[in-house]
Amino acid sequence: MINYCTRCVMPDTRPDLFLDSEGVCNACRSYENRKTVDWDARRKELETILERYRNRDGSNWDCIVPVSGGKDSTFQVIRMLQLGLNPLCVTATTCDLSEVGRENIQNLKELGVDYVEFSPNPITRRKLNRIGLSQVGDISWPEHVSIFTIPVRAAVEYNVPLLIWGENPQNEFGGPAAASERHYLDRRWLEEFGGLLGLRVSDLVGIDGLKAKDVIPYTYPTDEELKRVGVTGLFLGHYLPWDGYSNALLAQAYGFKSITTTVEGSIVNYENLDNHLHGIHDYFKFLKFGFGRATDLASLHTRRGRITRQDAMDLVRRHDGKFPWTYLGKSLEKILEPMDWTVDDFSKICDRFTNKKLFKRDAKGELIRDKRGNLDKVNWDNQK
Ligand SMILES: [Zn+2]
Repeated sequence: MINYCTRCVMPDTRPDLFLDSEGVCNACRSYENRKTVDWDARRKELETILERYRNRDGSNWDCIVPVSGGKDSTFQVIRMLQLGLNPLCVTATTCDLSEVGRENIQNLKELGVDYVEFSPNPITRRKLNRIGLSQVGDISWPEHVSIFTIPVRAAVEYNVPLLIWGENPQNEFGGPAAASERHYLDRRWLEEFGGLLGLRVSDLVGIDGLKAKDVIPYTYPTDEELKRVGVTGLFLGHYLPWDGYSNALLAQAYGFKSITTTVEGSIVNYENLDNHLHGIHDYFKFLKFGFGRATDLASLHTRRGRITRQDAMDLVRRHDGKFPWTYLGKSLEKILEPMDWTVDDFSKICDRFTNKKLFKRDAKGELIRDKRGNLDKVNWDNQK
């Protein structure tokens, strides 16, 4: 049985999501609390912090902005430039970078910033994709680790202490209050919420021939290194009102490219455009917890009053959790090829991670699929 938030369409099967006595989820409550925030005061607080870290003699960058080239990182860079900062932008290359993703990275550089891209060894990366999907059901596991470790390693390497992260995902999508109120990101946050799913980097050594030297990019700097440079980070979403959609509008006006149709499994065309593996990542979330990217997006737009809850439910039914036959037009077969998996191998892994209680089954207990391989959630119809 899945219960849904009475305001948005988030199910209580989402990890770290709680429904209160009125049936309202903590992500909706977090959003509601934003109305009481004094944004002018927050902005001043941000300016004070930036002033403290600004490099006065022009001998080094003022801050590091971890960027993917997506709408949010484009927005972060625009804001930093507007505030008169000289950021060093750092990208950890995605697992299977798309063409539009590459164009958006190029566009970001053209905003007028110095930029470093770190591309981990692709052979090791594919091993980690395999381990991630087959052991914890997350093909994007290495990416979720490296987007946090690589910019922090760069901070140490270039001796730039301040990292400017985007939103605190715990705040928009729901999480323990203590975590959603955090406005900096440290090793503890990474270990708790950084998408490690109980699989630690140190556990990988020995699997599939992996050695310690293979996982350097996925390893956080030591405490001594962090202390030497004084590495610290903040979530920009704590200081400036954060909304992915307005970020997209602004980014687009600064040359960021969206695509012409909605992304597979999603209800919008302006995000998660940089990696062909996103579709598999989102599908596994659906298999494990009964919701996908469409639910996330429909919920945040409902929360902001842009669509009704009724329409949100309809869009979720149309788009959430469809078998990921393609992503950004690339076929599943082609996406799986570098990992040496067939669609059949993939389906078997899907079965292992499917929470069977969430989906309709036949008299023999086998999962029911339509012609396109899509599962049907048990209580779609009860979603009030
Ligand atoms: Zn909600």
